[in-house]
Amino acid sequence: MDSIRLKARAKINLALDVTGKREDGYHEVRMVMQSINLYDSISLTKSREPGIRIRTNRAYLPTNEDNLIYKAVRLIMDEYGIHSGVDVVLEKFIPVAAGLAGGSSDAAAAMVGMTRLFSVKTSMTRLMELGVKVGADVPFCIMRGTVLAEGIGERLTRLEPMRSCPILIAKPGINVSTKYVYSNLILDEDTVHPDIDGMIDAIKRRDINGVCSKMGNVLESVTVREYPVIEEIKRQMMASGAINAMMSGSGPTVFGVFGNRRNAGACADVLRVTGIAKQIYITDVFHCFGR
Ligand code: ATP
Repeated sequence: MDSIRLKARAKINLALDVTGKREDGYHEVRMVMQSINLYDSISLTKSREPGIRIRTNRAYLPTNEDNLIYKAVRLIMDEYGIHSGVDVVLEKFIPVAAGLAGGSSDAAAAMVGMTRLFSVKTSMTRLMELGVKVGADVPFCIMRGTVLAEGIGERLTRLEPMRSCPILIAKPGINVSTKYVYSNLILDEDTVHPDIDGMIDAIKRRDINGVCSKMGNVLESVTVREYPVIEEIKRQMMASGAINAMMSGSGPTVFGVFGNRRNAGACADVLRVTGIAKQIYITDVFHCFGR
């Protein structure tokens, strides 16, 4: 095999809680993560020319060692003694700096793709251990599916797969830095913590209304204050029949969970007409029954 192509899927946070701050500056989190069927396409091709070359359809993305794919490919090369060159083509569709873990998912797919391309004998657990060096969300992006993430996001427990349903993704035309959001988060007695255990129960019962009633993201307290457009998109989704709508990760992307595709489509049309969201996708949850 000289070439391989993979899908790198985005994630949403069905619930995101921050439980404390560690001495090293990292935040302790508890979150329910869900892969969705919105993805980038990554192809890896062996090359006689040494080194890693990245091409992408998005001119604003770095193609040097700052790209998370570069870090991921380099990591696998170093770990498993691969000396061949690799040409990477990234077709980017996941909104960037959006709270959808696009970069982490690209890195995860690149790691898995490299082990397949070069027939490396390894395990998902080992790749997840290595992946955390590239980013805290990378282990989840290797595991995929419906997952409880704890610690700094690297301690993962697979949950029952969430029931299928349409998901509307809408990113306003602003970029939010994850670092900014976490450093401006104030945790005190007024913080409303989502009921993560209640959500896990609802997922187990395949109760979509129950899951939606437990959705919550403590980071909204920072971003919504700064960017009211996030609240506006949520309001529009609810007015269009979403069961619930919330910001994903550190934002600014909002996702809406819908009972049917017709309502999701109608809402997408309204968001397009009003112009409050710049990138809009109708997708659904991705189920992973092991690799
Ligand atoms: P998270 O949900 O993990 O916070 P995010 O959606 O906020 O992730 P990304 O889209 O992963 O953010 O990208 C954040 C930054 O990382 C961008 O500013 C971008 O320049 C850089 N980056 C490096 N490699 C990639 C990549 N392969 N895809 C997207 N962004 C990348």
